[in-house]
Amino acid sequence: MGKVAIAIDGPSGAGKSTIAKLLAKELGFIYVDTGAIYRTVGLYVFRKGLDPADEEQVVSILPEVNIELTYKDGVQCMFLNGEDVSGAIREHQISSYASKVSAHPPVRAFLLEKQRDYAKKFSVIMDGRDIGTVVLPDAEIKIFLTASSEDRANRRYLELIEKGQKVDFETVHRDIKERDFNDANRATAPLKAADDAIVVDTSGNTLEQSVELLRNIVKERL
Ligand code: C5P
Repeated sequence: MGKVAIAIDGPSGAGKSTIAKLLAKELGFIYVDTGAIYRTVGLYVFRKGLDPADEEQVVSILPEVNIELTYKDGVQCMFLNGEDVSGAIREHQISSYASKVSAHPPVRAFLLEKQRDYAKKFSVIMDGRDIGTVVLPDAEIKIFLTASSEDRANRRYLELIEKGQKVDFETVHRDIKERDFNDANRATAPLKAADDAIVVDTSGNTLEQSVELLRNIVKERL
C-alpha cells in the first residue's frame, strides 16, 4: 500500500485528537495534530507580548519562529526554537492566541508546506480545520467531526481540570463558541466540511462509541 492520508477536521473539543491518536496507533500511521503547530506560533506571539490579531506584528516575528515536530513513544512533541513547548501550548489562554494568529493568511502559508511534507513521507491521520479542504485535498478519507458546543465545552473543561488548570465551565463554553465563530468566519481556509467529507456528530456519544464509528468508516473506505 502507498502512502495513505486520512483528514479529520472539525471544531475544537469534538474529539478529533483523541480518536485520531487511537486510530493512528491501530493502523500504524503517523498522527499529526496541526492545531499544535498553530498553538506554537500563538505561544511565541504571547511570549513576545504582541497582539495576535495584528497581522503585521505577527508576520514580523515569523522569521524568528522555528518549529519542529517530533515523536516520543508515539506522542507528538512540539519544539519552538529548540525548546520543548508541548505542555506550554496546552495552557487555556494559548487557545485563543492560536485561533487569532491562524486567521492571518501569511501564517497559514508559512505552515502549509510543513504540514504537507508529513503526508508525503508517511501515511498519516492529520487533524485540524482545513486538512480536507486545503492541506490535503486529495486525502483518501475525509471526516468532519462535530458535536454540540455544550458537549465539546464539557469535554474540554474536564480535560483542563484533570490537568490541574483553574477554569470554570462557562468561560470554557464561551471561549469555544468564540473560537468556533473565528474559525468558521475567517476569509482564509475557514472551518468547514469538504464537499466529499463524511460528517460525524458525536454529541451524546461515549468516546468508545465515536471511536467505533470512525473505525468502521476507515475500515470500509481503505
Ligand atoms: O485544534 P486546536 O484547538 O489545538 O487548534 C487551535 C487553533 O488553531 C484553532 O482554534 C484554530 O483556530 C487553529 N487551527 C487552524 N487550522 C488547523 C488547526 C488549528 O486554524 N488546521
